[in-house]
Amino acid sequence: MPQQAIRELLRTAPSDQKHAVSGWVRTFRSNRFIALNDGSCLENLQCVVDFDAMDDALLKRVTTSACIEVSGRLVPSVGKGQSVELLVESLILLGDSNPEEYPLQPKKHSLEFLREIAHLRMRTNTFGAVMRVRHHAAFAVHRFFNESGFFYLHTPIITASDAEGAGELFRVTTLPAQNPPLTENGDVDFGQDFFSNATNLTVSGQLEGELGAMALGKVYTFGPTFRAENSNTTRHLAEFWMIEPEMAFYDLSMNMDLAEEFCKSIIAYVLQHAKEDLAFLDQRLTEEESLKPKEQRAEQGLLEKLQFVLENPFVRLTYTEAIAILKASKPNQKGQFKYPVDAWGIDLQSEHERYLVEKHFKAPVILFDYPANIKAFYMRLNEDGKTVRAMDVLFPGIGEIVGGSQREERHDVLVEKMKAVGIDPAHLSWYLDTRKFGTCIHSGFGLGFERMVQFVTGMGNIRDVIPFPRTPGKAEF
Ligand code: ATP
Ligand code: MN
Repeated sequence: MPQQAIRELLRTAPSDQKHAVSGWVRTFRSNRFIALNDGSCLENLQCVVDFDAMDDALLKRVTTSACIEVSGRLVPSVGKGQSVELLVESLILLGDSNPEEYPLQPKKHSLEFLREIAHLRMRTNTFGAVMRVRHHAAFAVHRFFNESGFFYLHTPIITASDAEGAGELFRVTTLPAQNPPLTENGDVDFGQDFFSNATNLTVSGQLEGELGAMALGKVYTFGPTFRAENSNTTRHLAEFWMIEPEMAFYDLSMNMDLAEEFCKSIIAYVLQHAKEDLAFLDQRLTEEESLKPKEQRAEQGLLEKLQFVLENPFVRLTYTEAIAILKASKPNQKGQFKYPVDAWGIDLQSEHERYLVEKHFKAPVILFDYPANIKAFYMRLNEDGKTVRAMDVLFPGIGEIVGGSQREERHDVLVEKMKAVGIDPAHLSWYLDTRKFGTCIHSGFGLGFERMVQFVTGMGNIRDVIPFPRTPGKAEF
């Protein structure tokens, strides 16, 4: 008999028709009620067995997390919480699970404990919900760009360039770790390496994305990104997924419009397509918040927050305006910031970003026109000669979710900016070629996919929104 998903069965009307379904046992109560979950949705299917008609030895094997196949008729449920239940006519045990050894009990486990058993945590309600929402968010990304006339460009994972100039790279090499070939100066001779060059995992697809935009008009990337940054925060992973649109003929204000529209479209899509999972996560968060002291609790619930962001325009202001607000702010006056805001030109810390978003404006914020010397070389220099056409989108509870800019399209200005930060223009001659052969204004940004998933699921730690997180000291599973 063809198998059906529990998601479908729960929407099926009771009838004399027989249905078959397979999944993992969540609980087995009173030797009669099996709560079965197959991952297709949050809810379990209640499967009712007539223990008198069943082999006792078989029923003993129906333990939490055992895998079973059941078939029977759907009947209206007498219990509350579900509309239909399955009257079991046949039960096949597909895979036993020893309850003494199975680490997930039908009770609440801490997120920290679940991280240690990430190979099993997707079987919990919370992680099932997060992974389904993550899927819908990824689908929303492709749908948005496809419908907006963008082409999906696959930029390389292995590259010889460091787009950010940040230097936090994972080296890719096939040279032996012990006694690698050396140059005359005693450095490792990457000329003898696989690519005849030193290579690393990509930190950003932007530079190649720009090449795509200068040929195809509007492109986006959506792929894994690697940063060997030793920052143990709730917002950084060593391996994360980034979405990077890059558009010819877009100036900074069009870029900001696109970023706002894009963020809202993802939120709208998950609200529409992951209702039950989001309602569950909303509830979970409310419970978690209720354990905190009152003054630390979030003012809005998850669904309320998503709806709010969807319905209100993002506040846009320049870096210079933000500095004035921060300088005059209460926490700054009272010395409550770890990094005091005393002068124009400082790099904003996450405490400053969060103050602007969560306390001052109480809305997502787009900051633009940052000081040139705290931003990357490829951002377009403004007429004032000291700021660049950069923008960051800041979200409540997250901080920076998007970083982008209008790109410097003037060849000679770009060469000067490279030299100023010690990048050899000859090294990026392929990038400079776009400025030599038909240059035009263009813009783009990067959105950290996991930070968006954090926002829409309300999960506090980025390690809990990716199946198998990679962080300093951890690459398990
Ligand atoms: P941050 O200051 O938070 O480290 P960044 O300035 O290094 O961010 P960008 O280089 O502009 O970030 O990257 C674009 C986007 O990618 C960021 O806005 C963020 O959403 C995401 N991002 C950056 N680094 C990480 C990371 N280590 N893990 C997860 N997402 C990240
Ligand atoms: Mn960073």
